[in-house]
Amino acid sequence: TKHVYFFGGGTADGDGKQKELLGGKGANLAEMSKIGIPVPPGFTITTEVCAAYYDAGKKIPDAAVPEIDAALKKVEEVAGKKFGDAADPLLVSVRSGAALSMPGMMNTILNLGLTDASVEGLAKKTGNPRFAYDSYRRVIDMFGSTAMGCEHEAFEHEIHSLKHEKNVKLDTDLTADDLKELVKRYKAVYKKHVGDDFPQDARKQLYLAINAVFNSWNGNKAIEYRRIERITGLKGTAVNVQAMVFGNTGNGSGTGVAFTRDPNTGENVFYGDYLINAQGEDVVAGIRTPEHIDQLEQEMPAVYKQLMEIRQTLEKHYKDMQDIEFTVQEGTLYMLQTRGGKRTGSAAVRIAVEMAKEGLIDEQTAVKRVAPDSLNHLLQPQLDPKSKVKPVAQGIAASPGGASGKVILSAEAAVAHAAKYPNDPIMLVRKETSPEDVAGMHLAKGILTSTGGKASHAAVVARGWGKPCVVGCEAVKIDEKAQTVTIAGNVVKAGEFLTINGTTGDVMIGKVETIAPTMTGDFATLMTWADKVRKLKIRTNADSPADSLKAREFGAEGIGLCRTEHMFFGEDRIAAVREMILSTTVEGRKAALAKIEPFQKADFVGIFEAMAGLPVTIRLLDPPLHEFLPQKDNKAGAEAVAKQIGVTVEKIFERVDELHEMNPMMGFRGCRLPLVFPEIGDMQVRAIIEAAIEVKKKGKTVLPEIMIPLVGVLEELTILKKRAVAVAEEAMKKAGVQVEYQIGTMIELPRACIAADKIAEEAEFFSFGTNDLTQMTFGFSRDDIKGFMPTYLADKVLPIDPFQTIDFAGVGELMKIGIAKGRASRSANHGQHLKVGICGEHGGDPDSVVFCHQIGMDYVSCSPFRVPIARLAAAQAAL
Ligand code: ADP
Ligand code: MG
Ligand code: MG
Repeated sequence: TKHVYFFGGGTADGDGKQKELLGGKGANLAEMSKIGIPVPPGFTITTEVCAAYYDAGKKIPDAAVPEIDAALKKVEEVAGKKFGDAADPLLVSVRSGAALSMPGMMNTILNLGLTDASVEGLAKKTGNPRFAYDSYRRVIDMFGSTAMGCEHEAFEHEIHSLKHEKNVKLDTDLTADDLKELVKRYKAVYKKHVGDDFPQDARKQLYLAINAVFNSWNGNKAIEYRRIERITGLKGTAVNVQAMVFGNTGNGSGTGVAFTRDPNTGENVFYGDYLINAQGEDVVAGIRTPEHIDQLEQEMPAVYKQLMEIRQTLEKHYKDMQDIEFTVQEGTLYMLQTRGGKRTGSAAVRIAVEMAKEGLIDEQTAVKRVAPDSLNHLLQPQLDPKSKVKPVAQGIAASPGGASGKVILSAEAAVAHAAKYPNDPIMLVRKETSPEDVAGMHLAKGILTSTGGKASHAAVVARGWGKPCVVGCEAVKIDEKAQTVTIAGNVVKAGEFLTINGTTGDVMIGKVETIAPTMTGDFATLMTWADKVRKLKIRTNADSPADSLKAREFGAEGIGLCRTEHMFFGEDRIAAVREMILSTTVEGRKAALAKIEPFQKADFVGIFEAMAGLPVTIRLLDPPLHEFLPQKDNKAGAEAVAKQIGVTVEKIFERVDELHEMNPMMGFRGCRLPLVFPEIGDMQVRAIIEAAIEVKKKGKTVLPEIMIPLVGVLEELTILKKRAVAVAEEAMKKAGVQVEYQIGTMIELPRACIAADKIAEEAEFFSFGTNDLTQMTFGFSRDDIKGFMPTYLADKVLPIDPFQTIDFAGVGELMKIGIAKGRASRSANHGQHLKVGICGEHGGDPDSVVFCHQIGMDYVSCSPFRVPIARLAAAQAAL
């Protein structure tokens, strides 16, 4: 097999499709080279070599070495310079790059090939000793800290003290002699940490650097990033060795990063930053404040024009928004990277819709372009524009949306705080962030930094996650020692609230109210395109008219799960519910239920009206009854209840004892309740049917579906259905109005899946309750997975938490059995299509939605705010 792929000089061995093998960066360098974009020559060592490197116990396989040497020769030919040459050295960068982009997670080393001898040559050849020594000190730092384990801070310390001694502010103010001195000091730091001199053999540098990139694949930062982003199954990182071009030769040079469209809003404008006389990551690292890309038009008009052309070429070629890195050396432009740009959810939607309208892509491609979960970003609450809280400062709007949270000043503190108070909103406030901070950043509601630009680490990462973020807010002064933040004279202590508006860059002290999002414009357009292709119907889980209306606004096509127990907790009826539970006679229970019934009926009327014309699945009471009583450690609560309903506390606790269960999830709940207490089921069915009658009388279409939970045995359903039908018939007879209704069941027990053919004899529909089904299939109590699930995931016992995404291999197989047997039986016995849906949390999980499509379900049901996500996921599944 081929281990090394050359690119440059208008050709390439590989191409843009080979991301698995060449990594994203390598594949795109090859592609750009092929389509005539100026790319410095280089070669890519494949991800397979990385895998072989680890297989061999961290050793570059022998077979790869001659290929690397040969490719390097070719680069020398194209560049017209020799690597390691003392008079006119070729310098190279060594860059990582896996199949999926992992920004800043792995290490890049620039200027390799410089030695004490060749730095002199470079200075002479270019007539620019300042540049030569600047490059040399950089490589000692980068090579030392990434390949040899020195601390970058130790080098930083030296440059700071030198700048202090020389009384200058910027790195660029240091002279050639200063930098020569700095090289000396850097070499001393290097020797102190490594125990050896900085290697004076270019080839040795190169191979050590290649090893370092391979090693970074399993560095802590990279592992953490893959965990959070759920990246699995990659072979490793590729290594790109590429001829250096220099942005640090003086004021005719520079380096920059840009997006071909605005990654925050999606607007079709060129968006980015650059720095004159700078190299590599200087723009991102916030060393000097970068200039906006528009400024380049004045400073280097020809380069700007060429860059705008390349912007067009790239978008036309890749048919997507690109994130690019470029360097200008003495007025000549070189492209160093392009990739599909990370963008916020709102930007993703706008870009997809506009590109379709521009004719760059078709509607179906637009639908495929937007990751369903990224819509979350458009479904987040926004800061209330009517809020009276005034901004105290403004930074750069880096990732839109509003967030309020308690100020925390380090990522570690955020992690610790979240472990203690998982529901506390966190506002992470930092000077800047780095890849070490991702765990803490992930936990924060919002991120605020005092330095950095639109392409800074914080901005890029926050945008990828759809988290509100404001960067470069210089008015923010952080004092970690005192644990305070001072903003324009206001002191905010750690733990106090701060609010950011990532859409405008505003920073506010205290909390700001938020408002619900709406679905308009490009978002609505994309949804109509999605609806054209999807096969699955999307319903919602809702227990109130307000939720129902919101869900309809988001496109819900009915209710898949209305949980009646939520209604039992209402202030105005909980007393009657408790009275019912406490009474020991049928009469007593009936009397209490009679008090609850009007409330239930009114609830259903509201929901039926909100969902007029659409099916509404109502689940009969499901949880064990003890959940409605005050527990024994709550004496005060029990006393209040006792007083309210006129019984003694002892009586309440007696009943609590009676109802106590070792394992309530597998206890007296679901259909077992109305089988023992039929009057409860009767009341609920009557309330449903009477409500339906009432709404129908108003001229609206009602389609109630009565759902009986936790059925495992046909006979459970037979008995309950018979009773429900009798109650319904009686109610309709009394009113003289007929309504169409169905009676079906939740499938949430393994037995129900296996015996689905039997159950379908009675059930008119199935709705998979995948929360319980997962729980019962694995034997995992979903409330008690904390102790082992993290280990299970870390050790890859399970690839993902099965409560998050359906376990296709186990739970999914049971579902398939249930659907096949249920449908076959229903059509054989009744000549009917058995309607099948899902109403567990999984209904809003894109991967699970795709699975539901594949196994031929009729609909999925999810929470109102996930309806658009499910619509999009269902459309993508159908494409
Ligand atoms: P990352 O994956 O972190 O973006 P890169 O490999 O893209 O790392 O390198 C970071 C930066 O280093 C690039 O954006 C570019 O500015 C600079 N760089 C890398 N290779 C070269 C090169 N051959 N010539 C000049 N600059 C380079
Ligand atoms: Mg890069
Ligand atoms: Mg259930």
